Amino acid sequence: MAHDYLIIGAGPAGLQLAASLERSGHDYVVLERGAGPGTFFTRFPRHRQLISINKVHTGYEDPELRLRMDWNSLLSDDPELLFTRYSEKYFPQADDLVRYLSDFAAATGVRVHYDTDVVRISRDDDGFTATDRSGRSWQGRRLVMATGVSQLYVPPIPGIETAERYDTFETDPASFVDQQVLVIGKGNSGFETAEALMDKAAVIHVAGPHSIKMAWQSHYVGHLRAVNNNFLDSYQLKSQNTVLDGTVDSIERRDDGSYRVMFRYARTVEALRELFYDRVIVCTGFRFDASAFDDSCRPALVINDRFPEQTPAYESTTVPGLYFAGTLTQQRDFKKSTSGFIHGFRYGVRALHRILATRYHDGTWPAEKVEPTPDAIGDAIIARVNRSSALWQQFGVLGDVVTVDGATALYQEEVPVAYLADGGLGQARHRFVITLEYGEDHDTVDPFDISIPRVVENDAANAHDASYLHPVVRHYRDGTATGVHHLAENLDNRWNLPTVHQQPLAVFVKECLADVG
Ligand SMILES: Cc1cc2nc3c(=O)[nH]c(=O)nc-3n(C[C@H](O)[C@H](O)[C@H](O)COP(=O)(O)OP(=O)(O)OC[C@H]3O[C@@H](n4cnc5c(N)ncnc54)[C@H](O)[C@@H]3O)c2cc1C
Repeated sequence: MAHDYLIIGAGPAGLQLAASLERSGHDYVVLERGAGPGTFFTRFPRHRQLISINKVHTGYEDPELRLRMDWNSLLSDDPELLFTRYSEKYFPQADDLVRYLSDFAAATGVRVHYDTDVVRISRDDDGFTATDRSGRSWQGRRLVMATGVSQLYVPPIPGIETAERYDTFETDPASFVDQQVLVIGKGNSGFETAEALMDKAAVIHVAGPHSIKMAWQSHYVGHLRAVNNNFLDSYQLKSQNTVLDGTVDSIERRDDGSYRVMFRYARTVEALRELFYDRVIVCTGFRFDASAFDDSCRPALVINDRFPEQTPAYESTTVPGLYFAGTLTQQRDFKKSTSGFIHGFRYGVRALHRILATRYHDGTWPAEKVEPTPDAIGDAIIARVNRSSALWQQFGVLGDVVTVDGATALYQEEVPVAYLADGGLGQARHRFVITLEYGEDHDTVDPFDISIPRVVENDAANAHDASYLHPVVRHYRDGTATGVHHLAENLDNRWNLPTVHQQPLAVFVKECLADVG
């Protein structure tokens, strides 16, 4: 019997979608290779500390505002199902997340087949068939891959197969005492690993071809996080640790078990340097595993074939009916926003649920009526930008939409901006799209260099030049962009001052609607 939805993967994303489908009474089943929910986090991160912020004490009563500081909870109406009740630690332990996800699965009653490793996926006119290692199979009209990045991405370096890998190496630092260690990869897993070895190893080199980007500067949480960069301190303060900028040309395991590595510096490409190490650990990121798909439905891959290519509706660009949820959707905002992380993709999953309802179950995107006047529309926008956790977390990716047609104005929340631009909500005479965004130069200016002139807070006249996160309202008439309005930055992220935020916005809305009807 074909289900409406086959969901593969009971990680945070698969659980979130299953809980939404369970609540909306749709027919689905989840297939999970692991023995329980959140299997990925039973092993990763290898050193067990999450880099997703868990701020329990915010001073906020409003649950939406609390979700701005809680990067681990899944979305549900049940206040018991908040991760902040599982740990007080700002950077929590992965085991606590596994415990939370198990309770979430139990409390939401999601239907999951565990110990079910899907090894083949095929498609015909009726839909998809997923077959597991034991030969059991399930049919579904639509398939949602929520399988995460389950494979280490291994760059094509000669001899790399002789090195240890982030996903399998023995993490006990005791085996690294007095050793020379090369960590390949300048991402969070690379620095997480180097940091864990600093007490024991004699020398640690972290190597990679690209410049290190700090998350606090780029505002992309997948760039190097401060919680993982003590190593940089030890490097620049001459403590035997070094960051090597360049590429590893080859790795040779020698008879005594040590390694000879040929390294090409980035800045002087012709200079090849011979380096010797006791250990080499590959920490070069992760990728989507597409191996289960047969020729009838293998999705197009992008970004070094590491991610499935998706439309603005999270659907495969080449396989109709095949959708993606979770960290896999980072293909849509790669290294820009937060779809790679729970605090981003939890809203993407909510949007996907709404897209599926709209496409296959005669649903419509939830909407609230507002008075079609500039003040009422302005107030509705101000109320939302000062509360919404979705617009805050998925900055520039999810937006609220106000549609004005004649004497009707509708307010719709958390619409993927690209899905809207792709006609997801149909056409309209007047549309306002509301997002939270950083300024154009946000990832290049040094926020700590006070010699660099910056727009100060509450400066409505220069709000468009603000670097830090602030609300942006764009107006479209018959689908064509006609104007944009920036609300001034504010120290407390409260954009509700009458003369600074409310009145200028109402004036903008009024001017845009001048030809209403
Ligand atoms: C090293 C590392 C550390 C990270 N740390 C954080 C962090 O601290 N905080 C954060 O928010 N994000 C973090 N992320 C990013 C991301 O949130 C996680 O990758 C998260 O696990 C993604 O959730 P998901 O539901 O998309 O996929 P996953 O959690 O990976 O879940 C996918 C599930 O699918 C199952 N599965 C896979 N293939 C099959 C198959 N063929 N058949 C059946 N089941 C299958 C897996 O067993 C798994 O349970 C990290 C990512 C990495 C790589």
